[in-house]
Amino acid sequence: MKAKIKEAGDAIPAKTNIQTFSERTVPMIPADQQECTPRPEHPPERRGVSRSRVIEAAKEAVPVVDLADLLVGAGGLKRLGAEWVGRCPLPDHEDRTPSFTVNPEKNLFWCFGCLRGGDVIELARFAWGYGKSEVAMAAALLLREFGHELPARPDSWFGKNARQAPVRAAAEECRKRAFRRRTFRVLMAAYVARGIEDEDELRREISAAWEDWQGALRRIGR
Ligand SMILES: [Zn+2]
Repeated sequence: MKAKIKEAGDAIPAKTNIQTFSERTVPMIPADQQECTPRPEHPPERRGVSRSRVIEAAKEAVPVVDLADLLVGAGGLKRLGAEWVGRCPLPDHEDRTPSFTVNPEKNLFWCFGCLRGGDVIELARFAWGYGKSEVAMAAALLLREFGHELPARPDSWFGKNARQAPVRAAAEECRKRAFRRRTFRVLMAAYVARGIEDEDELRREISAAWEDWQGALRRIGR
């Protein structure tokens, strides 16, 4: 399971067509956040209109069978009547018999083993370890995984809703931080900065997005 999630993470840069990184956003990542110090947990996310747009966009853009196929792995899903069947890819279910089913017509999944089911967002949430209050983050990551852009610059929620993964060994964290910083620069910095003229606002947005980006990558083990 872990290996599959990593593969998914690797797919982000190749498939995403974010505009080129803008020079002026480079120094905006606060210097103190480039150190290898464990970060404190963030407060819970707040509700905002742009979050539901991200969720709707992800539901529309990514069929549940596509995510299931990614999670289960190539050849892992077999056609059985109207459904696809395979071993459950969810991290806390060790599925010996194929219990995991996807109905492409209804665009829903159901696992007879762990009794979980739902739409593509729910599958992403379970697979990547997001809580019920973090559906928008799961949806945003889903869009990125499949090479889609977020529908709008997610101002309010994107800056506030990430909870950081538990503190890890400092050396490992340091290596991962370099990866996060690099991918943030390439994929996110220019995107977040788009349309912001005010320098202070830009600094705040970049800083907040950087925190969220780290949180999101931590969840997929990067
Ligand atoms: Zn299951």
